[in-house]
Amino acid sequence: MHELPVVQDLIKTLDKESEEKNIKKINEINLVIGELSGIIGECVQTYFDLLSEGHTCEKAKLNFTFLPSTLLCSECGTEFPHEKSFNCPKCGSQGKLVKGSGREFYVRSIEVT
Ligand SMILES: [Zn+2]
Repeated sequence: MHELPVVQDLIKTLDKESEEKNIKKINEINLVIGELSGIIGECVQTYFDLLSEGHTCEKAKLNFTFLPSTLLCSECGTEFPHEKSFNCPKCGSQGKLVKGSGREFYVRSIEVT
């Protein structure tokens, strides 16, 4: 359910972009999703297919890039992407989540004709 307003916003953004740049048809949309955003790519695509009808982005293919959140080591100050563990790759101490990281959702680029 979380994805519905997100997709509505996305289509609004794409409509605005289309109008400004005089784009007739959007074929592909490259999106970035943070791992903590709670947004599921498949759900986005499902809503998108329903809601994009009649818009320049109708039937566009969505490509997702998942972005890990960023951790900051409390010992040595290294910033590193969250992969399997919370431990710093340099010194092994535990890292803390950088506020707001991993919650991204944005359009990186679009392919148009
Ligand atoms: Zn460290």
